[in-house]
Amino acid sequence: MQSLIKFISVAFIMVIGTMSVHATEKLKIIASFSILADITQKIGGDFVDVVSLVDPNADLHQFEPRPTDIKRLLEADIVIVNGLGFEPWLGRLNLATKTAPMQIIASQGVMPLALDRHDHTHTGANDTGPVDPHAWQDVSNVRLYAKNIAAALITRDPDHRARYLENLADYDAALETLDRDIRGALSTIPPEKRKIVTTHDAFGYFEKAYGLAMIAPLGVGSEAQPSAKDVAGIIRQIRDEAIPAIFLETAIDPRLAEQLAAETGVKIGGTLYADTLSQKNGPAGTYIAMMETNIRTLTAALAP
Ligand code: ZN
Repeated sequence: MQSLIKFISVAFIMVIGTMSVHATEKLKIIASFSILADITQKIGGDFVDVVSLVDPNADLHQFEPRPTDIKRLLEADIVIVNGLGFEPWLGRLNLATKTAPMQIIASQGVMPLALDRHDHTHTGANDTGPVDPHAWQDVSNVRLYAKNIAAALITRDPDHRARYLENLADYDAALETLDRDIRGALSTIPPEKRKIVTTHDAFGYFEKAYGLAMIAPLGVGSEAQPSAKDVAGIIRQIRDEAIPAIFLETAIDPRLAEQLAAETGVKIGGTLYADTLSQKNGPAGTYIAMMETNIRTLTAALAP
C-alpha cells in the first residue's frame, strides 16, 4: 500500500513537472548558485525568471537554506542544482509536495574527478567515494551544463523549443571560443611557471583541462582549518617547487594565503573567482566574464 501511494504521488509529480506553462508566463527558476543562474539565463532568455538561491560572493560551502529559501524553492517551476555533492542540504529538504518543482542536476553526464586525485597510493579503479563538485572550472563541462538546462526548459515549456535551441547554439559557440581563448592565453605562460597556490581546492577540473597546476592548502570544502603541519607542508612545497605566485579567492578568507605569502616571500598574484560570480556590474558578472577575468589575473602575474 505504502509503495502504491508512493507510485501514485511520483506519477502525479511527473505530470505536474511536464505540464507546459501558459505562453505569457515566465518560467520561475531557482538555481542553487550564481554561475548556474547565469547559464540558465543565457539559455532561457526572455522566457525565464531566474534567481540564484545563494547570493554572488557568498561562500557556498557554508550555505544552509533558511525557511524563506525553502519557500522560494517550493514556489519555483524548476530548481537547478550543480550536483556532484555541492548541495548536500538539498537531500535534507522535502520538496516532494504535490506541486513539487522539477529538479535538474546540471552536471549530469560530467566525468567526475575523485577528491583524492593527488593521493597516488589510491588505486582509483572502482571509486564511488566523494567527488569534486567544481566541474564548471572546465568550460567543456559547462557546455554540457547548458545542454542539460536547455533540455529541461524544453520539457517544461515545449512551446519555446526553437528559441531555447537557438540560445543554446549561440551560447555553445561563445563557450567554444572561451575554451580556445583560455588555452591560447595560458600558452603564453612559461611551462615552469604553470604552478600556483590558491586557498581551497576548487580548480581540479581547470588543472586537468588546461594544464595549470593549482595547489591548495584547504580541501574542496572551504570550512576546515589546516593544521600547523599542513601549513608547514605547503610552505615547504612552495619553496621546493619554486611556485611563482599565490592567489586569493573571492568569498574565501584571505588570511591563510596572506600568511603563506608572508612566510615564503612569494607574491600575491591577485584574486581568482572559484565558486561565485561578482555582482552583475562587477568584473565577473557572467560565467564567461568570470573565466576571462581569472585568465587575465593569471597571465598578468605569470606571463613574462
Ligand atoms: Zn568550492
